[in-house]
Amino acid sequence: MSFPYEAPVSQSLFDRASVVTPGGVNSPVRAFRAVGGTPRFMVSGTGPYLTDADGREYVDLVCSWGPMILGHAHPEVIAAVQEAVARGMSFGTPGAGEVELAEEIVARVAPVEQVRLVSSGTEATMSAIRLARGFTGRAKVIKFAGCYHGHVDALLAAAGSGVATFGLPDTPGVTGAQAGDTVVLPYNDLAAVRAAFAAHEGEIACVITEASPGNMGVVPPLPGFNQGLADLCRENGALYISDEVMTGFRVSRAGWYGIDGVRPDLMTFGKVMGGGFPAAAFGGRADVMAHLAPAGPVYQAGTLSGNPIATAAGVAQLRLLDDAAYGKVDAVSAEIRGLVTAALAKEGVAHRLQAAGNMFSVFFTDGEVTDYASAKAQESFRFTAFFHSMLAQGVYLPPSAFESWFVSTTHDDAAVERIAAALPAAARAAAEATA
Ligand code: PLP
Repeated sequence: MSFPYEAPVSQSLFDRASVVTPGGVNSPVRAFRAVGGTPRFMVSGTGPYLTDADGREYVDLVCSWGPMILGHAHPEVIAAVQEAVARGMSFGTPGAGEVELAEEIVARVAPVEQVRLVSSGTEATMSAIRLARGFTGRAKVIKFAGCYHGHVDALLAAAGSGVATFGLPDTPGVTGAQAGDTVVLPYNDLAAVRAAFAAHEGEIACVITEASPGNMGVVPPLPGFNQGLADLCRENGALYISDEVMTGFRVSRAGWYGIDGVRPDLMTFGKVMGGGFPAAAFGGRADVMAHLAPAGPVYQAGTLSGNPIATAAGVAQLRLLDDAAYGKVDAVSAEIRGLVTAALAKEGVAHRLQAAGNMFSVFFTDGEVTDYASAKAQESFRFTAFFHSMLAQGVYLPPSAFESWFVSTTHDDAAVERIAAALPAAARAAAEATA
């Protein structure tokens, strides 16, 4: 397709980046490969807006893939970071900031009795899986197709597997042995989980699931699914790990747990809790966490874990996230969802807008999307046309049809008006798109 607006400065940065960095980016989806065109190199952000290297401003509906729930450059978070950075960047010792962040998490999320801080969501899920294996003395892990838990070797086994099949590695570099203990099942299919427990009796260490998936687009758990997972785990002596890296502290004070109330054994967090800095965590039952070094034998560590700048940003951000803040994010999310649906409906574009709390995404399909197979059945070429029209009109969407959209407390009437103004042409572009 043709791209209505070129971005010469971004393009020249991308050309330079492509010489020194594989594919020109440090995380694949940033390269725009799913939608084509020039990835925008951003130079600054304020509130709901991003400005690229060519000087164009966008309403940001990515929010750094979730973390920037207070918008960009929030003054109180900046002040906390400046104060922390002036005291030194990293000590490699315990510090007060990490205690405060851990206390904040434990206070918000009832199933988390103890928490260990790490630096990325990948580290959090990797460590939680190791802990589950160490605690249960079992090897196998159940995960769901379409759920992403970071680039943990054992969890990169998800490719279209059928019921109760062993995962095949999704990527070169992950060995059969690393993926072979991963059982990949269709999402929202409790019968498949029950069958897998029967087929691998006494072998399953844990079930890991996104609390409410946002990595195949937004596909919430069907009523009873998460509770069913928790029950099956308990009946079979396995741990239930709820990955709240994306939903944690975003969809409510206590994340998805605050919405569905299903009690996991372990939980993982990232994104919002770092205030835009690399901070993540895993936590849960104290008797399970007691197996972690130095209290117990399961090793886990990190030079920059609990970094004072990251924890200062995280504490500042979480303290600002009160009920009023969540109310605001929920309301603007609902407003934007309504506008998107109305614009697409007006052009007769088959679509389905799915939400989980204030996270949402659009599937270009008529049918209900409940798992990875139905997510992939959408006409994603329509998203490509929609995306580029929005981009050309100054609205930055996730550059893939299989990602959640995110909003912040700063998405005000002016930002919403810009989105509303861009939608009619984008909906028309989606309607006219051809495969
Ligand atoms: N788990 C979930 C649910 C995620 O959405 C992500 C990242 O998008 C991760 C884990 C991995 O987090 P990170 O990118 O910080 O390693």
